[in-house]
Amino acid sequence: MSGSMSSTTALPPIEIQPRDLSAYRAGNTGVPYVHRFDSGRPGPAVLVNALTHGNEFCGMVAACHLLDSGVRPLAGTLTVSFANVAAYESFDPLKPFDSRQITHNLNRIWSEAWLDGPEDSVELRRARELRPVVAAAEHILDIHSTSADVSPFWVYPDRAKNAALARALPLPEVHLVMPAGLGSGTPLIQHGRHGRDEADAGAALVVECGQHFARATGERAIAVTMAFLRHLGVIAAEPEAPAPARPRRFELLRTHVVKDQAFRFTRPLVGFEVFAQGELIGTDGDEAIVAPCDDCTVFMPTRQPIVGREGVYLTRPMAD
Ligand SMILES: [Zn+2]
Repeated sequence: MSGSMSSTTALPPIEIQPRDLSAYRAGNTGVPYVHRFDSGRPGPAVLVNALTHGNEFCGMVAACHLLDSGVRPLAGTLTVSFANVAAYESFDPLKPFDSRQITHNLNRIWSEAWLDGPEDSVELRRARELRPVVAAAEHILDIHSTSADVSPFWVYPDRAKNAALARALPLPEVHLVMPAGLGSGTPLIQHGRHGRDEADAGAALVVECGQHFARATGERAIAVTMAFLRHLGVIAAEPEAPAPARPRRFELLRTHVVKDQAFRFTRPLVGFEVFAQGELIGTDGDEAIVAPCDDCTVFMPTRQPIVGREGVYLTRPMAD
């Protein structure tokens, strides 16, 4: 079998097909692919954001569900956005991991330094376009998925409002908490007031819904989105609301960014593997990546190391 064939057979099945989003391009806010619905009543300003990474289709599934089924807020405003449509439209089923981004990671450039800086790219242009949309949102649900087929999880900066909202929802049960941010850039959920924890900042969460191309991941994204909107009173509560999950929380200790093309793990990792203190997790050129604590749990190990991109997140379980 040729090398290219074996790498093709190693690809996961594409159970979610990318839809043509041209019908959503115009939107109603003046910003392409952004739709806002106003209840005319007081209430929260909620943003549901999809496709921050172009090949993470579950957010597209959830956003299309909101738009296609005509979900309208009972209170406050509901904004639905498709972020990196340019990367999404570059999808090639033979290279399904390549359409994550065109140039920049759209989820690492939400600092003033990048947004007000001199550089230009598809993602920087789009972030500058989306900036007022993100800045206006009180509560944000940014919908993502993972390369590997692992348990879904929340990701959020260690702010009380984030933890309270994630804890109130029935899924997912795993929380990845970032006391010191990502360490590799500023994500969308830490833009502006959400990065400064100002009194008026609501909750801003990333949800990782499962493997990028699995049908169940899209279904989970819809379930999480509806639960998020119900909890905030944007849509009607269910008569028998499911109980909140008992959380399993992990604290991000370090984000390892790949420095050398020879980066590799000591064994194949998909995420949630546990290492003892001092145990070797991988090597990055001459650098040993070693577990800094007992029960060190890895999140989002890279499927294909690329110099300058994240290689692995090292975490430890939190008391609750
Ligand atoms: Zn993502």
